[in-house]
Amino acid sequence: MKIGVLASQGAFIEHITILKQLDTEAVPVRLPGELEGLDGLIIPGGESTTISLLMNAYDLMEKVSALALKGLPLLGTCAGMIMMAKHITGNGAPSLELMDITVKRNAFGRQVDSFETELAIPALGKAPFPAVFIRAPVIEHCAKGVETIARLKDGRIVAAREGKMLVAAFHPELTNDTRFHEYFLDIVSGKN
Ligand code: GLN
Repeated sequence: MKIGVLASQGAFIEHITILKQLDTEAVPVRLPGELEGLDGLIIPGGESTTISLLMNAYDLMEKVSALALKGLPLLGTCAGMIMMAKHITGNGAPSLELMDITVKRNAFGRQVDSFETELAIPALGKAPFPAVFIRAPVIEHCAKGVETIARLKDGRIVAAREGKMLVAAFHPELTNDTRFHEYFLDIVSGKN
């Protein structure tokens, strides 16, 4: 199994490190040709406006969209989730418009713009997941066919899945807990 990690900007090295820990081949993707032969693609956190600009500049937007529509499994974390959303409230740069979710950028305001919390994620088992939020978005609405994967205690949705597309508002690559990536790899291999 070979997983690409979009390396235009943001926290891509951390995703590659976790995938290698899970004995999975992981390659950075900066150019369209590097998308060839991938079994899955991760769009990392960072700054969605910058990622959008760079994806456009390097001709990655259309190619990634086309592959996702053909069934390539995608994982988007934080800014990556914003890039995958069909609808973005407030100002956002052009996204890939793949997942039928409405996302609000920088949803936690200035005072608590970064925090860590123990998140219940039933799909990962009983133990809570240490979720790191950094100037994170939230999912304001999931359309029919989109499964809610995790909510904060106040009810706001912070992870979701639609078919082979998985998104999280937090950064699973910044913790030692590999379960979120294992869940994505199970989607890639068809186990889940
Ligand atoms: N605030 C960033 C954005 O709107 C996302 C932050 C992140 O990826 N950690 O793109």
